[in-house]
Amino acid sequence: MLNYDTIFNFDKNLIEKLWDIGCDLFFQESLARHVNFRLGGDVPLFIIPNSLDGFLETIKLLRDSRIDYRILGRGTNILPTDNEKEFVVVSTERIDDISLEGETLTVSAGTSFKSLCLFAMKHSLSGLEKAFGLPGSVGGAVYMNAGCYGWETAENLVSISVFDGKKVLHLSPTEAEFGYRSSLFKKEKSLIILSATFKLVQGDKEDIQMLMIDTMRKRYEKQPLEYPSAGSVFKRPKPDFYVGTAIESLGLKGYMIGGAQVSEKHAGFIINKNNATASDVLKLIDYIKTKVRESYNVELETEIEIW
Ligand SMILES: Cc1cc2nc3c(=O)[nH]c(=O)nc-3n(C[C@H](O)[C@H](O)[C@H](O)COP(=O)(O)OP(=O)(O)OC[C@H]3O[C@@H](n4cnc5c(N)ncnc54)[C@H](O)[C@@H]3O)c2cc1C
Repeated sequence: MLNYDTIFNFDKNLIEKLWDIGCDLFFQESLARHVNFRLGGDVPLFIIPNSLDGFLETIKLLRDSRIDYRILGRGTNILPTDNEKEFVVVSTERIDDISLEGETLTVSAGTSFKSLCLFAMKHSLSGLEKAFGLPGSVGGAVYMNAGCYGWETAENLVSISVFDGKKVLHLSPTEAEFGYRSSLFKKEKSLIILSATFKLVQGDKEDIQMLMIDTMRKRYEKQPLEYPSAGSVFKRPKPDFYVGTAIESLGLKGYMIGGAQVSEKHAGFIINKNNATASDVLKLIDYIKTKVRESYNVELETEIEIW
C-alpha cells in the first residue's frame, strides 16, 4: 500500500526533490477537496507544481521512482471512490498561461476553459462562444474532447503539445485521434497534455459576448449548477438517444440512493445532494444502467471517470 510512510521509505529524497523544484505537497489529502463532486477518499500525496518546468520535473521524478500517478485538471469529470488511493495526484492548476499571436492562442493545460473563453472575447476572437461555462481546464477538455451545444474542443484546435515522459511532442488534431468524447490521450495514459493551440477568427465583440451570455443562460436554466456533480454521467450511446430524456421517462428524476440524487433539473446529472459517498453515486449509476437496459435495451457507458 502506498502511503505517507512508504513514499518516504521508497525514496527518501523524492519529497525533498519535489520541494526543491518548488512543488506544494499535501499528504494524506482528501480528493473531495479537489473534485467538483466533493466526495472521495484520500491520496497519499497531492502535488501542485508551480511552473511548467516543475511540472515536467515532477513527472520525470515520479516515473523514475515508479510511483503511480494521475493528472488532475479541475476535477470536474471525476468520481473518486471512497477508499484510500494507491496513486499520487499531480495537479495542473498552476500551469495556466495564455499567449496570443494574431488569431492563434496557445493555452497551458491548467488554464480554466472559462478564462480562455473570456480572453478570446476580450480580443474579439470568435469560435469558443458555445464553450463558455464548460467547467474544467483546457487539458481536461482536450483529453476527452469535451463538447456542448454542437461545439467540441477539437473543432478549433491546430496542435497539442504533449510530454511523453522524456520529450515534448507536438501533435496535430488528426494525430490526437479525436472522436465523440474521446482522444488518443484516453488510450495512451503516458501522454500528458501541456498546452493546446487554438485558431479562432476575428469577430464582433458584442456578438461574441451575447452568444456567451446566451450559452451561460442555457446552462443555468438546464443544469443543476447549485449542487456538486461531475456533469452528465453517461455518454450518448447513439446519436439519436438522449440519455437524460430516457432516464426522465423512467420516472427517475429525483430518485435518491443515500445522499446521491438523479437531478430534478436534468436527469442526465447525478448530484451530491446530501453528503453523498462515492458508493451512493456508484449504486445509483448501476441502478440507472439496469433500468435503461431493461426498458430500452441500451447499454449506458459512463462519461465521468471513476478513480
Ligand atoms: C456542471 C458540469 C457541467 C459539465 N458540462 C459539460 C459539457 O457541457 N460538456 C462536456 O464535455 N463536459 C462537461 N462536463 C464535464 C467536464 O467539465 C469536462 O469534461 C472538462 O473538460 C473536464 O476538465 P477537468 O480539467 O475538470 O478534467 P479532470 O476532471 O480534472 O480530469 C478528467 C480527465 O482528464 C485527464 N487530464 C486532465 N488534464 C490533463 C492533462 N493536462 N494531460 C493529460 N490528461 C489530463 C485527467 O487525468 C482525467 O483522466 C461538465 C461537468 C460539470 C461539473
